[in-house]
Amino acid sequence: MRKLFRKSIFSTTSKLGNFWRTFTVSLLFDTYCFHCKNRPTEGNGFLCNQCLFSIKPSPVETYGFRYLDGALSFAPYEGIGKNYLQLIKFQGAKSLIPFLGEIVKPTFERFYKSIQPDIVTYIPTHPFRVLFTRGFDQTEEILKVIYPNYVTLFKRSPAPQRPLYLLGDKQKRAKHLKGSFKLVYKPLETLKGKKVLIVDDLLTTGATGESLAYLLKSVGTKEVFLFTLFRRGGS
Ligand SMILES: [Zn+2]
Repeated sequence: MRKLFRKSIFSTTSKLGNFWRTFTVSLLFDTYCFHCKNRPTEGNGFLCNQCLFSIKPSPVETYGFRYLDGALSFAPYEGIGKNYLQLIKFQGAKSLIPFLGEIVKPTFERFYKSIQPDIVTYIPTHPFRVLFTRGFDQTEEILKVIYPNYVTLFKRSPAPQRPLYLLGDKQKRAKHLKGSFKLVYKPLETLKGKKVLIVDDLLTTGATGESLAYLLKSVGTKEVFLFTLFRRGGS
C-alpha cells in the first residue's frame, strides 16, 4: 500500500521530482537510513540505496579447528555489514535479505565450487531469538536466496540459552552447546562419507560449528565446512 502510494506520486525522474521525493518522503515517513542517517530509505524501510550496495566482499578464512575442515566468511563483522545483520536480526528487517543474499552469493558460490559439498545446511537460530526477527530464521532466509536446494539437518533445543559470548572460554562454550542440537536428518546412514557445508550468519569462535561438525563426524560424515556471512574480529 505504502509502496504503491509512493510510486504514484513520485514517478517523475526530473531534478525537481527527485527533490520532492527526498523532501516529502523524509517528511512524511521519517524513514532515514539507519546506517548513514543522511539519506531517506528507498522502499526497504531501513537503508538508503547508497548504503544498501556499499557492502563489499572481503573474504576471511579461518583455520585451526578440531572438527571443521575449513571456514570462510564473506566479510569481517564491521561497518555496513554489521548494521545489515543487526537490522535483520534485531529489527526484523526481512526486506534487506534479498539484497544481502545477492551480494553474498558470488562469494558463497566460489567456496561451494572449491569444496563441492554433497549437502548444504544451516545452523538454526535459537527459537527464542526468532521472536526478535518476528518469526523468521535469518540464516535460513538468506540460504533461500544463495542456495535454495539446502536441507535441514539440525534442530535446536528450545531450552533457554545464554549468549555464547558471555560464557568465556572455548571449553565452557562447548560444554554448554552439548545437547542443544540434534541431527534430524533421516536416514542418518546417508550422511556417511559425505561432504557437508554448514551456513551460519556470524562466526565468533566457531564453537557452534565445531559441535555440529562433531555431531556429523560421529555418524560418519567425511568432511564438514562452514560458510558464514560475517566473521567477528576477523579483519
Ligand atoms: Zn545510508
